[in-house]
Amino acid sequence: MQNMYSSIGVSEKVWQFGEKIIAELAPRFAMIDENAEYNQLKVIAAMQKNRVSAACFNSSSGYGYDDLGRDTLERVYADTFRTEDALVRQQITCGTHALAVALAGNLRPGDELLSPVGRPYDTLEEIIGIRPSPGSLAEYGVTYRQVDLLPDGSFDYENIKKAINEKTRLVTIQRSKGYQSRPSFSVKLIGELIAFIRSIKPEVVIMVDNCYGEFTERIEPSEVGADMIVGSLIKNPGGGLAPTGGYIAGTKECVERAAYRLTSPGLGREVGASIDVNRSFFQGFFLAPVVTAAALKGAILAANIYERLGYAVIPDGRESRHDIIQAVTLNTPEALIAFCKGIQAGAPVDSYVDPEPGDMPGYDSQVIMAAGAFVQGSSIELSADGPLRPPYNVYFQGGLTWPSAKLGILMSLQKMVEAGIVSPDRLTAD
Ligand SMILES: *Cc1c(COP(=O)(O)O)cnc(C)c1O
Repeated sequence: MQNMYSSIGVSEKVWQFGEKIIAELAPRFAMIDENAEYNQLKVIAAMQKNRVSAACFNSSSGYGYDDLGRDTLERVYADTFRTEDALVRQQITCGTHALAVALAGNLRPGDELLSPVGRPYDTLEEIIGIRPSPGSLAEYGVTYRQVDLLPDGSFDYENIKKAINEKTRLVTIQRSKGYQSRPSFSVKLIGELIAFIRSIKPEVVIMVDNCYGEFTERIEPSEVGADMIVGSLIKNPGGGLAPTGGYIAGTKECVERAAYRLTSPGLGREVGASIDVNRSFFQGFFLAPVVTAAALKGAILAANIYERLGYAVIPDGRESRHDIIQAVTLNTPEALIAFCKGIQAGAPVDSYVDPEPGDMPGYDSQVIMAAGAFVQGSSIELSADGPLRPPYNVYFQGGLTWPSAKLGILMSLQKMVEAGIVSPDRLTAD
């Protein structure tokens, strides 16, 4: 095995350091495999119940009326996520778009949107109009209010209560930390927040940005009171096979409103041909629990490796997991770049290219991204990215298989050693 790693560019010291840490992680990895087993059965049960057949893998064309595959897939999502309904479409271009559709579909002029969990994901700032953008909710007369988390990362219940008013129509809760250093929330904790909000205003619509969270636990936020959960198919639920797409799962009313926004008033979910995606959407969703487990193991390995080397990591090496993102505070731009070069070098695709920082639409600082993916930009595949701003956090995620996730992390360490950022002596100490 060690020869194999040497031949692919991982030194003996780096490999042995990794092996020692992996051996200690065996009990946690066993628990992750059990969760994957549970969620795998959930998905299979939903596929069986909805009589998924070979005919579901065909495409429709034109308007896409009576698209059996698309409509069955939406039932499978709804049953798996325990919702009344779901919209799962290739016409939803990404997670940001899914969130924009869910929000715009369910808010009206004069309504107020509340985030009780602090600043939302970067790209939502333009949807909401926190950063002015043509077509934002602000331009349509939807106001926004935000309650920051307390310094320890917990909910500020007192100020959340004060922020809820007669205009508050929709509450958005982001499960994953995204590009922040706060904790990601467990579904249980999200359930407590939802119960609190409902105790003040029962009729408010609650949406959870579920990006990166799907299948990391045995239940989803839709099972603890969320009216809508929203995500991207090039993250967890696409299982690495979905080439594009997004989903909105929730109550009939919320999903319907979103559908009228996605296509057109009057048409809603009836149109939208599935062109060559049904098989990969089904098969990807089928694989998603196991793929998510591989990504979780990779994240835990990265946390434990870099924690051992003295870097701040969120979550830490022992914490329970509620998404597949691992943040490592690398302190310098050089370390951030070396880390990303390693992830790129460990990939099956485009391993020969060198990632460089650049401007990205929707982000307000330069970003470096490493991804050697079968699907462009897919972050259920091994990928790392980080904004070029202090404290130079890298956000690592994905890995379609555990061995490939492991290779990527070992390669990141290898590049840090080669760049003189981590001394090889550190790998043998302890
Ligand atoms: C990825 C992500 C988004 C946006 O998804 P894109 O597919 O990149 O547009 C939104 N919220 C969170 C928490 C995310 O992780």
